Amino acid sequence: MTRPLPNRSPRSPLQCIVPPYMIEAMTRCGDPAVRGRAVGSLACAAAIHAVRDLSQKMPSMMAVPSPTGRRHRLVYDAKKKDRLPGRLVRSEGQKPRKDVAVNEAYDHSGATFDFFHELFGRNSLDDAGMSLISSVHVGEVDDRGRYVPMDNAYWDGSQMAYGDGDGVVFTRFTRSLDVVGHELTHGVQAFTSNLVYRGQSGALNEHFSDVFGVLVRQWKEGVSVEKASWLVGADVLMPAATRRAIRDMEHPGTAFVDDPVLGTDPQPAHMDAIYTGPADRGGVHINSGIPNRAFVLAAQAIGGKSWETAGRIWYDAMLQLSRSSDFKECARITAQVASDRFGAAERKAVAAAWKKVGVA
Ligand SMILES: [Zn+2]
Repeated sequence: MTRPLPNRSPRSPLQCIVPPYMIEAMTRCGDPAVRGRAVGSLACAAAIHAVRDLSQKMPSMMAVPSPTGRRHRLVYDAKKKDRLPGRLVRSEGQKPRKDVAVNEAYDHSGATFDFFHELFGRNSLDDAGMSLISSVHVGEVDDRGRYVPMDNAYWDGSQMAYGDGDGVVFTRFTRSLDVVGHELTHGVQAFTSNLVYRGQSGALNEHFSDVFGVLVRQWKEGVSVEKASWLVGADVLMPAATRRAIRDMEHPGTAFVDDPVLGTDPQPAHMDAIYTGPADRGGVHINSGIPNRAFVLAAQAIGGKSWETAGRIWYDAMLQLSRSSDFKECARITAQVASDRFGAAERKAVAAAWKKVGVA
């Protein structure tokens, strides 16, 4: 039995949670330990080797049938190396291991599966029962034989990979349910809109991953929109007064401010400040701040629990967008879905939210 593979060519980009501008800031840091590790992690350097190995292994692995409508999780230990997937350490239904990263990857991918299944009737990433494959402890060994943990988590088109973090700026990436949900939503997108990972379509790709990553967490916590946190990756940052998260969907540009290592969050909150340069594949992690804020404004205006109405609208829209959709088209489609599925009040809330961030 074979199942369709996600639409990914061997050269398509890894979709990492930590954007290149944060890693680059770390390479300029005065602390040689942070600088060294950042250089090691630059542009997911460790991951690039991993993918090469994976692309050869994956076809046979992907062909393993998984039960339909049920979770099928496989967690591997990359054993501090950059070869994926590594050694299988926990399969679906097996009891917890001593390794906390293994159990976090298992539990959080299960919560993400349940979120999409219970709310939207989606049977895994491909809607055909695809196995959820995670590798933990991804990293590499430097010239002196020391372990360099990856300062990132990524979706590579077929599976998840998680680093342990440097222990100075980042801690292990499996800790955060919204990070796991973010990466797995890249998987859902690969089988649906498959938005091109560059420019505005790429920023929408990042945006949908942030939306559903955060909604998985809010759903698991059962919190209403008034009490909800809109931070992405708060659990993977080592605490400091100058940093709260990787991104802040409600207040883009404030997740980290004047941080001695990370600098200041470059995300714009309005079209007035949209980034038009070449970095970060045309600002995929930067300009996602604009639709992110629109989503939060819409969810707040609608009220209740964010996944029930706003989340449903955005899920339907994600399935309707095309590869090259831009912010304007996303605004149009979300307003249309709001009207068709809910009504005039919801349509008004969604349209007003986009207008507030400068997308008419
Ligand atoms: Zn991402």
